[in-house]
Amino acid sequence: MSSDLRESRAGQTDAERSELLADQTCVVTGASRGIGRRIATEFAGHGADVVVNYHSSPDAAESVADAIETAGGTATAVQADVADFEATAAFADRVRDEFGAVDVLVNNAGVNVDKRFERLTPEDWQRVVDVNLGGAFNCTKAFYDDLKEAEHGRVVNISSVVGQQGNFGQVNYAASKSGLFGFTKSLALELAPHGTTANCVAPGFTATDMADSIPEHVHDRICERIPLNRFASVDEIVPVVRFLASEESSYVTGEIVNVNGGMHG
Ligand code: NAP
Repeated sequence: MSSDLRESRAGQTDAERSELLADQTCVVTGASRGIGRRIATEFAGHGADVVVNYHSSPDAAESVADAIETAGGTATAVQADVADFEATAAFADRVRDEFGAVDVLVNNAGVNVDKRFERLTPEDWQRVVDVNLGGAFNCTKAFYDDLKEAEHGRVVNISSVVGQQGNFGQVNYAASKSGLFGFTKSLALELAPHGTTANCVAPGFTATDMADSIPEHVHDRICERIPLNRFASVDEIVPVVRFLASEESSYVTGEIVNVNGGMHG
């Protein structure tokens, strides 16, 4: 995009703004439900071709892709376990065959296995770290050359306020989400010479299936710690992700953007 065009942004119509991701191929991991699903539909609504990655929910992922196509967009659902290095390499090959080079990668796929530390097993530790942190490594590795060479490549990693503050029963999850901060900041330095950015979004507690597993009395105690006194909806997280994925954020890199109801991560 030329600097003239960039300067004219202020005078853009709503229709022009709605095409913020036109001609961009965007991969969203863990997009079969929750935050990832909403990111996928939001990106498609802004003109992107979207790859809806999932692990174990094919029907849900197909329904996301179908909803996007029905609305006039372009999407495909592709299965891959982001924790598996070989599988993510094959995933990237398939995406390139169908869409060509990728411009935007959102590392959103995540899991939690919550237990007090004394009951946490090596397997509980490993799976959560392998998906949440290893998945970001594997997918970034798989799409790295595309992202480096894209005109304005973008990596957006979905971390968590828990990575900043810790949380009872979430040693494994918190460690994986903290790891994304260092990962993102270092990656941003290496991608900067190519004009590609890497940033983190750190959502607070958000109403999705992941949060559904929280018992009601714990939910209430968490709300007491949130200045806005409630969980976020996915609609409140996604605009920040869209901004970091678009050309509009071209001078933002290596950042952690908190969307947490005032928890001061
Ligand atoms: P969710 O509703 O549980 O959805 C998780 C998504 O990740 C699903 O699409 C799932 O796909 C996918 N996934 C899980 N393991 C995968 C794997 N190995 N490979 C590929 N995809 C995999 O979670 P969410 O609440 O939307 O969370 C999305 C992201 O936001 C996560 O990184 C989470 O840590 C983060 N976050 C969530 C909250 C919150 O309160 N909800 C707060 C802060 C940060 P399948 O269904 O196909 O398995």
